[in-house]
Amino acid sequence: MAEKKLNGTVIVTYRCNARCTMCNRYKCPSKPEEELSVETIKKLPKMYFTNITGGEPFIREDLPDIVRELYKKSDRIVISTNGFFTDRIIKLCEEFPNVGIRISIEGLEETNNKIRGLDDGFNKGYSTLKKLVEMKHPDVGFGMTVQDANAKDLVELYKLSDELNMEFATASLHNSFYFVEAKNIIHDRPMVAKEFEKLINELLKSNSPKKWFRAYFNHGLINYIYGQKRLLPCDMAFDTFFIDPYGDVMPCNGTKDKEIMGNLNEQTWEELWNSEKAERVRNKVRHCDRQCWMIGSVSPAMHKYIWKPAWWVFRHKFLKFFKQNKYSMYENKIVRDFKDGKVSKEQLDKCSTCDMNCVVNNGLSTASLEQLKNKTGEEIVNADIEKQFKNFGDN
Ligand code: SF4
Ligand code: SF4
Repeated sequence: MAEKKLNGTVIVTYRCNARCTMCNRYKCPSKPEEELSVETIKKLPKMYFTNITGGEPFIREDLPDIVRELYKKSDRIVISTNGFFTDRIIKLCEEFPNVGIRISIEGLEETNNKIRGLDDGFNKGYSTLKKLVEMKHPDVGFGMTVQDANAKDLVELYKLSDELNMEFATASLHNSFYFVEAKNIIHDRPMVAKEFEKLINELLKSNSPKKWFRAYFNHGLINYIYGQKRLLPCDMAFDTFFIDPYGDVMPCNGTKDKEIMGNLNEQTWEELWNSEKAERVRNKVRHCDRQCWMIGSVSPAMHKYIWKPAWWVFRHKFLKFFKQNKYSMYENKIVRDFKDGKVSKEQLDKCSTCDMNCVVNNGLSTASLEQLKNKTGEEIVNADIEKQFKNFGDN
């Protein structure tokens, strides 16, 4: 029997140079010497898709070695980045012409820089994107975490990506140990949902089946921001996994605290994946009530339960072309109920994962925590980047 391939996300570092408002990971970096080694990466299973993420993955100077190793076991690789290290990104794409690059841009210039916390963040990210387009890199895209502060830029950014012939990926606010955040919440749900509605109609208007399915994903985001049950089951840890910089294998990045199935520095993949500990985590996933709607958990579910999004796409393309009807956010019962005053904002807030009093677990190792006793995460990472630039001069 052919070996079953998995969907994996490799968090190569918890170091990050950005200062995003919706993520405190930059305050909690991993120690470089503890981060995933190529030797550990060699132990990963075969994958049909691998996402490399961070922190900011390009902070790792040995990222090309990691990508090279991952290509031996993965059919497709996509790297999520904030686009700051332009030269490194370009160089990597020259070596790996098929690698996918997703640059997170959180809005048009002013909004992006405010959310990302980098003065020149937009220009940096955008110029990296343009360079990749100029060199005709085939797999480039934007990623945007939609929230109150940037929802109004959503359609404009989509159009920009469309003009540049790029992928456009969306997310919304989540809380978890991974983001070192528990207070993220959408305040003006109808306003944000309205912007998603406009995007969904733009996507449905296109001739690309991929975009119609993205429309379904964004429909799911409206459902998510209203705190409703996921539109598709969550099967994380069954044929999908995350691995963190310490080699800990986890079901996903959406849990409140880090859930560990095993450690790949210490175990073989088979031991870890078939262990009792892994089974206990799978059981937790089966009963998980966090209702995340992030592409990492939704994309495999959309493939597995394809008839559900396919039926939605069929109905909406059909409605649109034969009845000239557009998608409406009020197709979601909860959106109608809120408009009609049948449910209050406070009730919806309670359905979210936002917890103003929660102590956030950042998932750091003891040694990484230790280094935070005398310095902040920002100081540590700034000094680290300065040293890298002094040594090699690139960015
Ligand atoms: S969202 Fe990404 S870029 Fe922003 S601080 Fe978190 S890890 Fe860094
Ligand atoms: S819903 Fe799924 S992705 Fe979200 S925390 Fe639970 S198991 Fe993880």
